[in-house]
Amino acid sequence: MFWLITIAISFSLCCVLYGSADARVEGPVVEGAVEGAVVGIDLGTTYSCVGIYKNGRVEIIPNDQGNRIMPSYVAFAADSGERYVGEAAKNQAAVAPSQTIFDVKRLIGRRFEDDTVKSDMKLLPFSIVNQQGVPHVEVKVKGTARRFAPEEVSAMVLSKMKDIASTYIGKVVRNAVITVPAYFNDAQRQATKAAGTIAGLNVIRIINEPTAAAIAYGLDKKEEQNVLVYDLGGGTFDVSLLSIDNGVFEVVATSGDTHLGGEDFDQQCIDHFVRVILKKHKKDISKDAAAMQKLKREVEKAKRALSSVTQAQIEIEGLLDGLDFTETLTRAQFEKLNHDLFQKTLEPVQEVLQAADFKKSQVDEIVLVGGSRRIPKIRELLVSFFDGKELHSGINPDEAVAYGAAVQAGILSGEEASKDLLLLDVTPLFFGLDDVHGVYEGERLMAKDNHFLGSFVLSGIPPLPKGVAKVWTYMEIDHNGILHVTAVDKATGSTANVTITNSGQLAEAQVERMIRDAQLFEAEDREHKERATAIGAMTGYLDALRRTSEDLKRQGKLTGDQYEILREAIREGEEWLAENREASVDAIREQQREVEEKVKPIIMAFYSSGSSPDDEFYSDDHDEL
Ligand code: AMP
Repeated sequence: MFWLITIAISFSLCCVLYGSADARVEGPVVEGAVEGAVVGIDLGTTYSCVGIYKNGRVEIIPNDQGNRIMPSYVAFAADSGERYVGEAAKNQAAVAPSQTIFDVKRLIGRRFEDDTVKSDMKLLPFSIVNQQGVPHVEVKVKGTARRFAPEEVSAMVLSKMKDIASTYIGKVVRNAVITVPAYFNDAQRQATKAAGTIAGLNVIRIINEPTAAAIAYGLDKKEEQNVLVYDLGGGTFDVSLLSIDNGVFEVVATSGDTHLGGEDFDQQCIDHFVRVILKKHKKDISKDAAAMQKLKREVEKAKRALSSVTQAQIEIEGLLDGLDFTETLTRAQFEKLNHDLFQKTLEPVQEVLQAADFKKSQVDEIVLVGGSRRIPKIRELLVSFFDGKELHSGINPDEAVAYGAAVQAGILSGEEASKDLLLLDVTPLFFGLDDVHGVYEGERLMAKDNHFLGSFVLSGIPPLPKGVAKVWTYMEIDHNGILHVTAVDKATGSTANVTITNSGQLAEAQVERMIRDAQLFEAEDREHKERATAIGAMTGYLDALRRTSEDLKRQGKLTGDQYEILREAIREGEEWLAENREASVDAIREQQREVEEKVKPIIMAFYSSGSSPDDEFYSDDHDEL
């Protein structure tokens, strides 16, 4: 038997709910106890964004490319093992599809056997393997197969966000507030937290994405309002209904789908074009990962275009076996292909209103966030569902989640201006017990149909007839939405605590190993970067040397022998570089010094004669010559 637990919102700050649980309270958090800066990170399926609360306001931090949102992509060069994160990784997706990892948010905290994992495996171009019941990504690193847990891949994205923020504020950021879809379950939240830990971040709070977006919207609102946050991103969909009243953000109800978003809309179009190509050109591209990635990239581009124009052209040169592919996708076709999925987006809206016992007319504002909110049909469906009500367009929807997370981060780091904010959130799923002390999470009536979280053993209870022992169960949901259960037998005082360690989660030792690996990868990244700089410096030096030697020769200032010595030194240097791309930074610098030594007598002769052959050559880095 499964007892569905009654909703009881407790306003107690310690958030211990007696016997049942469906609410958690976040704040008023005026701790300021956290050492150092705290950033807010929106760890998205397709894009991530980081913000910080500074000098009384939120700043969204651009990355080294100047972009305020960064693709949640990680890629590895198969031979050198060089790692790319963000734009650089996404750019190589079509060239090395099996080495480019994305969408791990769809895998994190899930079991290998989950239906969604099974269906994603068919579509994702990289290999996903079963490691003790948990999906792992497998890629080639330095020529050998290497497995990564989804937490590790997410940690690589988080680590990049940490670097972006650290560079921006000029010191290493150690603390973060990370957002998750409201509908993420316990395992998905725990896994996201572990990803932060692996990235070297102290995750001081996990908050729900729609709640964060609502903070961005309602921070300055003084009057009471009911706000529906509709967050349709790349891979997840969340709908939350909040009541906002002068700094108090109460989530009244939440619903969603952790597996619905822009990627699914893309997939419908990809399937369509695979069929078209098969029919028209008699070629099945579905088995060719590189062709599929090219198609995916172009389809996504076309989909974005269709949010502002009514038809888009898809052109792919050399799609497969020399086939140049050109097709048109109209907005009407796009809407037809996605008709069912678009309709599905209204279900959580309906559910949220029902759960809150709200009429449509009681919703004061509809705030849209997430990249897929731009799709005109989706907006149209929503406007018509709310009987013509206008959608709010005041906040930057791509940055709203990170903005709200940064506000929360500001409070936790003790920033003055944002002290009086109170978050009252709900857990998205019911928690319950069966009569053998198993703890479950889910919406279904029977325990067996729900998601098993863990079990506890109460010992020392004397034998009693069935049904006589009275066990009190306390459920505590912490600020991160993670559940802790304590059971007490009143007669004997025997207690038991459940640590929710469902087998999908990483053990402490695994996390520690992953932290060490992440540090190794970071060290390797640094080395790759330093190597690239050293190669760039030597290449620049050799180029300048060539220009100088040609100029001097033209001006008749070099003897034939001198010119040959310079040319030989340049040739040797270039050959060495071509053959030693993986050499250590020291070896590259040493090699450059050797070239410098060889040409020094000739160059010095010009110095001493007062000539100045090439300003560019002698300026900057090479003035030691
Ligand atoms: P998010 O996870 O919120 O960053 O949203 C990313 C998703 O939004 C991806 O699936 C994008 O393809 C989609 N997206 C971004 N821009 C547009 C647009 N103009 N029209 C339709 N979808 C878009």
